[in-house]
Amino acid sequence: MNFLEEKILADGIIKSGNILKVDNFLNHQIDIDIMRQIAYEFKRRFRGKTVTKILTIEASGIAIATMLADLYDVPVVFAKKGETANCTDDKYVSQAYSFTHERMNNVFVSKPYLNEGEKVLIVDDFLADGQAMLAMIDIVKQAGAEVVGLGVAIEKGQQKGGATLRAAGYHLESIAIIDSMDADAQTVKFR
Ligand code: 5GP
Repeated sequence: MNFLEEKILADGIIKSGNILKVDNFLNHQIDIDIMRQIAYEFKRRFRGKTVTKILTIEASGIAIATMLADLYDVPVVFAKKGETANCTDDKYVSQAYSFTHERMNNVFVSKPYLNEGEKVLIVDDFLADGQAMLAMIDIVKQAGAEVVGLGVAIEKGQQKGGATLRAAGYHLESIAIIDSMDADAQTVKFR
């Protein structure tokens, strides 16, 4: 078992509706030592890749992205979410259905922060159905930049995002992959 799986077992709370709450170290309080280990693990798994920018989505991806960007010494851009963002000349806009908030979000990045030819490593805290990742990939493509990899802290393997992204040929690295979880027994099985 790796450090993140151990942390999930120690501090994660399984809610009904297939939701894992990790507010104690990732989604509310942030455990800097765990963030640092996640960042080093991504750096190791994506070794040999040239990265010029880290892209994530607000809010919980930002901590991971920032620690990782420090190791690459590159900027972080976080996509913003808004129900009302319009497709305008100055923004790249995509859409993602939010699994946790059960609504459609517009996802956008201002054009100056993502440029043609950039090599972008996309990271996020969770991967479930892949909606957030697919929206960020779409935005990178709109910018004419390249997705060099996808890094996820916790993949919920019982949902379709991981399979979709791997089948599409992306280099996806998930540090903890959950196979199943039981809210009544508060048990988690990892892949
Ligand atoms: P997806 O876009 O892959 O369907 O869902 C990923 C996004 O939804 C992540 O950015 C994360 O914020 C949120 N999410 C999905 N499942 C969970 C979960 O079980 N726990 C938490 N805390 N967030 C989740």
